[in-house]
Amino acid sequence: MNKPDLGFSTRCIHAGIGNDQFGSPHTPLYDTTTFRFPDTEKMDRAIDGRDPGYFYTRYGSNPSIANIEQKLASIEQAEAAIAFSSGMAAISATLVSHGQAGVICIGEIYGGTWELMSSQLKELGRKVAFIAAHETEQLRDYLSQGFGLVYFETPSNPLLHIIDIGDVCEIAHAYGALVAVDSTFATPVNQQTLSLGADIVIHSATKYLGGHSDLTGGVVAGKTDVMLPVKFWRKNLGQIMAPEVAHLLARSLATLELRVKQQNSSALRIALSLQKHPGIERVYYPGLEDHPGHDIARKQMRGFGGMLSIVLKARSRPPASFVDALNLFSLAASLGGIESLVCQPTLTSHRDLSPEMRASKGITDNLVRISIGLEDPEDLEGDLFQALESLAGK
Ligand SMILES: *Cc1c(COP(=O)(O)O)cnc(C)c1O
Repeated sequence: MNKPDLGFSTRCIHAGIGNDQFGSPHTPLYDTTTFRFPDTEKMDRAIDGRDPGYFYTRYGSNPSIANIEQKLASIEQAEAAIAFSSGMAAISATLVSHGQAGVICIGEIYGGTWELMSSQLKELGRKVAFIAAHETEQLRDYLSQGFGLVYFETPSNPLLHIIDIGDVCEIAHAYGALVAVDSTFATPVNQQTLSLGADIVIHSATKYLGGHSDLTGGVVAGKTDVMLPVKFWRKNLGQIMAPEVAHLLARSLATLELRVKQQNSSALRIALSLQKHPGIERVYYPGLEDHPGHDIARKQMRGFGGMLSIVLKARSRPPASFVDALNLFSLAASLGGIESLVCQPTLTSHRDLSPEMRASKGITDNLVRISIGLEDPEDLEGDLFQALESLAGK
């Protein structure tokens, strides 16, 4: 069931349900590596697709995995979706399968993706070019040299930069290149990346799709012919999502829209009140009118997300004492869960960059990234305010 006329949450709940022999209303967990056949003829027919059936879990041939892929495809309005063991598995399989002619990376990207592109893909002899979001001439230049894949994140980590998906696609498609977008921060609730023109949408399902900080997974979605080589690499790189994870993810997706809408509204409220606080120098949130990407975000997003970053004003106490004074926000990497998290990018995602490199990207010691969870927004606000006061030494 992939009916585009049905609402988002209806598809989250009803798409990709297996026909269980005992009548389970959701796909039960098929915790098995293999499937037996009554005879050679039937096995042969199932392997080459003449009969329906499942064969071997690593190939993705398992009802728990096949059903979550149908659900994910429906959520992204995609012809096909492929489930992975992690976000990085999804990203690496995409870059390996579609990056042969060179990858153009636009703007800020996740630390693991940066390592993969800046060193490991180059070791494989792949060309990778890094450009800033406004460098349209350079984008055209690399495309005319034959680079075949454009890759970016929007909103990005940790400064929530927004890239115009439609604009980039128009340029890239004129040269016959594919566009892949890591939409982890946006979620499919806030951004329908494929309908904005992208060929490939990627998520770390570890974040909002899973949403409870208890599973590691990834997803890639797009047209069937674009997904085929990605699926083939997944098979032999062995990056399949575990059936147990697929089952847990199906349960999480049922509440995706509820969770993300609440996170959108809490984050906007908190961004607005922090913006007015004397202890704060700057709030980065795409929903704020002074955010450089606000107009594009309004155009291509349905909500502004649950992530924001703040710059603390210099005080006598270091930024870490703000983080340490928080009670409801846990100090942890990752994001997108039901519990609010906080971290300093200079100590986590951007730790390995030189201080000069960090400064050039606007990542300073007083920058704090916040993932808004599902706690009551007034409690979160109260906690942030008391920690700001402790920073001021009151
Ligand atoms: C976390 C994250 C990833 C990597 O996902 P894993 O599931 O940890 O492999 C990739 N992109 C973005 C934007 C992320 O936040």
